[in-house]
Amino acid sequence: MKLSQTLTRIAPSSTTAMTDRAFELRAAGKDIISLSVGEPDFATPDHVITATKAALDAGETKYTAVSGTQRLREAAALHFRRDLGIEVPPGQVIVSAGGKQAIFHALVATLDPGDEVLIPAPWWVSYPEIVRFTGAAVVPLETTPTSGYRISAAQLEAAITPSTRWLLLNSPGNPTGAVYSAAELRALGAVLARHPQIMVMSDDIYAPLRYQPGRHATIAAECPDLAQRVLTVSGLSKSHAMTGFRIGLAAGPEWLVKAMGKLQSHSSGNPCSISQAAAVAALEGPQDFLADWCAIMRRRRDMVVAAVNAIPGLSAPVPDGAFYIMVDASAHMPRFGDDQALCLHLLDHGVALVPASAFGGRDGFRISFAAADAVLEEAVRRIAGALA
Ligand code: GLU
Repeated sequence: MKLSQTLTRIAPSSTTAMTDRAFELRAAGKDIISLSVGEPDFATPDHVITATKAALDAGETKYTAVSGTQRLREAAALHFRRDLGIEVPPGQVIVSAGGKQAIFHALVATLDPGDEVLIPAPWWVSYPEIVRFTGAAVVPLETTPTSGYRISAAQLEAAITPSTRWLLLNSPGNPTGAVYSAAELRALGAVLARHPQIMVMSDDIYAPLRYQPGRHATIAAECPDLAQRVLTVSGLSKSHAMTGFRIGLAAGPEWLVKAMGKLQSHSSGNPCSISQAAAVAALEGPQDFLADWCAIMRRRRDMVVAAVNAIPGLSAPVPDGAFYIMVDASAHMPRFGDDQALCLHLLDHGVALVPASAFGGRDGFRISFAAADAVLEEAVRRIAGALA
């Protein structure tokens, strides 16, 4: 028996692997706080739960159109216009089983061995693995706290080759919380305008979670001349605390959305029919709770950043969006060797975290602060104790 060469090119998802490990340890009776996965602790809003039950009662339990019901694609088009400033007809929207599936299908549909994909690092764990799955090459664009974890136009220009096929953008970003301004996106757009072979994937799933004043900026809206080369990915997992529903939304050029639908027709088929009905309620229902949730997250961010920076040998910049903090622990590396060993040590002390190296970073770890205040306080206490 053997595994395919394609599969051996990729590593398992470190975020989900660490979370599974935390589940196992808890099942074995250990007291583990998991801040390893990006999952809001809020309850899914009541009106979404009501719509979910209603869909079950109404017998919406059968196949739907592979790329999503017309009703949901219309609601998604409303979302892209209202929340992201992107005008798109429902026919250029696809609904997938989580944003991850949309990203997977878009990259598999367009990449061949020899192609190159530019990814700002630190990156979300699944971006490079999906690119490697296709046989294309990952080209990291290194960022640091000094650059606000954002790439510059000059850096982008210098990395482009005739083989470049995609630039992946994620703002607000996982794991750094970096947020690009409209002006920065327009500067990147000016470079991309000179290289018509490059597509842009803009993963905007954390758009409602921004902690600076001002509107959300996204490249398809800021650079209308590029709009036919941009796939914008969104979803409800983070904004509406619907991680388990597995609903991702993507809007882009018709040829690409159709190609993604073709793959989806052979992989999962339609996303869960009940989840799609819930997603309509989430997108068309009240959105005012988002501001309250964002304020809670902002308070937690400030609390955790201050507490982490007070621990000797740790430092963390303040993220502008999403709900992650990248912690630099390089001062502790002589003791642990690498950040994986450090995270195993922290796990022994009851806190599950993901090492920075899993995100293309080094010598640190990511904290997800999408947890209750008391849980965060206890987690920071355990980290301080483990490192003392
Ligand atoms: N995106 C979240 C995270 O980074 C969920 C887990 C995953 O799919 O990676 O933690």
